[in-house]
Amino acid sequence: MKQKETLSTTPLKEEHIDLSNLLIEEMGDEHKASSVDTPLRADAFDKTDEEKIAAIAPHFKAIMEILGMDLRDDSLRGTPVRVAKMYVKELFQGLNPANMPSMTLFENKFQYNEMLVEKNINFYTNCEHHFVPFFGKAHVAYISSGKVIGLSKLNRLVEYFSKRPQVQERLTMQIGKALQTVLQTQDVAVMMDAKHLCVSSRGVKDDSSNTITSFFGGKFQEEKRKMEFLKYVDINE
Ligand SMILES: [Zn+2]
Repeated sequence: MKQKETLSTTPLKEEHIDLSNLLIEEMGDEHKASSVDTPLRADAFDKTDEEKIAAIAPHFKAIMEILGMDLRDDSLRGTPVRVAKMYVKELFQGLNPANMPSMTLFENKFQYNEMLVEKNINFYTNCEHHFVPFFGKAHVAYISSGKVIGLSKLNRLVEYFSKRPQVQERLTMQIGKALQTVLQTQDVAVMMDAKHLCVSSRGVKDDSSNTITSFFGGKFQEEKRKMEFLKYVDINE
């Protein structure tokens, strides 16, 4: 981990964390046994984004044609490339560790030792079983071990792991474990409350159900802390 040199006049000591290295090096072994990892092939990033877009488009075109659609239609013509671009550059760009957000830590100058809760972080992701969206709110909390992180970084981290084909359980754990690594503490909690279009728009067509998943690390496994977090989050709100 690189520690940025700071002048004595600098009020806050900053520490830049290269999350991609941390996750691969520090979490790598643990991942294998826990299935927290997104299943990726060894050659996942041999192709550039542009090569992937060029390769996906004809396949998506084939799906549309097999379904019987006439690709000569003005409205449909651009769809295969549009979808390929959206997959690679937007919806699934979080597969590539090169797109991990940079994380900057600060010294906990104010000695704030209670939990910090960032609630109602909107997220959109896609179910890896049906490739349709599931989306909702993420609630994230940690107790500082001496370092604090910019609040927007919590949103960025949720967004990064959401931009993969996902299952909600894995998404929740990936965010929790990444936060533990970045913040150098076990004391992290994550709760995700989501609607799955593969449940509401097809299949059983249940429009009213939500799926809730949670991750409680370190002190958040204590009943008192867990209840405090749940009180702040109050998902029935
Ligand atoms: Zn699904």
